[in-house]
Amino acid sequence: MEKLAIHGGNPIRTQPFPQWPVWGKEEEALLQEVVHSGKWGGSGRIRTPGGRSKLELLEARFAALQQARYAISTVNGTLAITVALKAAGVQAGDEVIMPAYTFIATASAALLFGAIPVFADVEEETLQIDPEQVEALITPRTKAILPVHLGGAAADMTRLKAIAAKHQLRLIEDAAQAVGTCWEGTGVGAIGDLGTFSFQSGKNLTAGEGGMILTDDEELADLAWSYANVGRVRQGAWYQHERIGWNLRMTEWQAAVLLAQMDRLKEQLATREQNAQLLNRLLGKIPGVKLVKSDPRVTRHARHLYLFRISATRAKKEELLQAVQAEGIPLSPGYVTLNCHREVLRSIRDWTGKERTDACPVAERMAEREAFWLGQAALLADEEAMLDIARAVEKVLAYYGTNEGDDT
Ligand SMILES: *Cc1c(COP(=O)(O)O)cnc(C)c1O
Repeated sequence: MEKLAIHGGNPIRTQPFPQWPVWGKEEEALLQEVVHSGKWGGSGRIRTPGGRSKLELLEARFAALQQARYAISTVNGTLAITVALKAAGVQAGDEVIMPAYTFIATASAALLFGAIPVFADVEEETLQIDPEQVEALITPRTKAILPVHLGGAAADMTRLKAIAAKHQLRLIEDAAQAVGTCWEGTGVGAIGDLGTFSFQSGKNLTAGEGGMILTDDEELADLAWSYANVGRVRQGAWYQHERIGWNLRMTEWQAAVLLAQMDRLKEQLATREQNAQLLNRLLGKIPGVKLVKSDPRVTRHARHLYLFRISATRAKKEELLQAVQAEGIPLSPGYVTLNCHREVLRSIRDWTGKERTDACPVAERMAEREAFWLGQAALLADEEAMLDIARAVEKVLAYYGTNEGDDT
C-alpha cells in the first residue's frame, strides 16, 4: 500500500490549483471608465455622459441572467437577505424556516433584526432543505420560508412554492451560491417572492464584496430598494425618507468588476460542469464515497461547491480531511450545522427569552462525519487535477478502510 503523504509518503499532487478570482484587462478597462466618469457611488441621479451607470447595467444584465424582472444591488449577500426579509414584511419575532446546513449568514441576516430562524433538516440525497420538514415546522408565528440553493444546485422550489402558497407564507431564496442556476428551466432568485445573491470573494461572480436582490414584483422591488437606500423612495425627494432604511448600496467599482466577470461566466460554468461530471464518474466508483445527487429538475447547476459524502470508514472526519489535504487536494470539511451552533442559539434566546432546539439529524451527521466539498476554483482546473482528486481520495480511503480505523 502506498504510504500516505501525511505519514511522510509522496503526495498525489504537487501542482497548484487555479487561483481565484480570475481577472484580466476587461476589469482594468471598466474600472478606468469608472475613474473617469466621476460617478463612483450608487447614490444620486448623476448620469455618466451618454450612458447608464455601471450599476444600472449590472442590475439589468443580472436580472436577465436569472430571468427576473427587477434587480437591486447591495453591499453584500448577508444584508441582501436582511433587506429581502424586511421587504417581504418579516418583523421581529416572526419565524423564518431555513435549512440547518448552510452558511451562518442565512441565520444572522434574520437575527440582525430579531426575526427567528427555525431550522429544517436537509434531504440525505441532495443536502437541500427538506420540504416535508419545512411544512411540519410551520406555526402561527411563521412568516417566511428561506431555502438555500446549496452549492449551486437548487432546493425543491416546486414543492416549496406550493407549501408557501398553501400557508400564505413568503418564499425568499438564498441564492448566494447559485449564480446561473436554473430550476426547471427558470433562473433561481425570482421563483419565490424574492431571492438574494452574493459577490463575496469566494463566490462564482465576485467583486470582493457585493450582493443582489431579485424579484418579479414591482412593489417588493421598490421596498427592497428603499430599505437599501436609507428609506428613500425611487421618485421621491432627496430627504424624503418613508421608512427606516440603511445605506446598503454597492459602488460603481464593484459593478464594473462584476460586468467584466459576467463575460467569463458562461465558459466557467461549462468548465465546472464538465469537471463535476468527471468527478461524479471517478468518485462514484470509490468504495465508501457517496455522491450528492442533484434533482433532475436542476436544469443548470452553478457548481459553486462540489459536495460529496464519505460514509463507510471508521476514521474521524478530521483525519480523512487532513490526509486528503496532505495529498495536495484543497478539500473542505463543509459547514457546522446551525441548529447546534452556540451563538445562533444564544441569539435566538436573547430575542425570544426561550430556548429553541430543532433536531436535524441528517444535517448533524453531514457536519460531524460525512460531508466534504471542493470549492468552485478547484473545479476550474484541468482534467488531470480531477484525476488527482479521485486518486487522493481513493488512496486515503484504501488506507483507512484496510486498517479498520486502527491506523498506527
Ligand atoms: C456567501 C453566502 C452568504 C453571505 O454572503 P456575503 O456576501 O458574504 O454577505 C449567505 N448565504 C450563503 C448560503 C452564502 O454562501
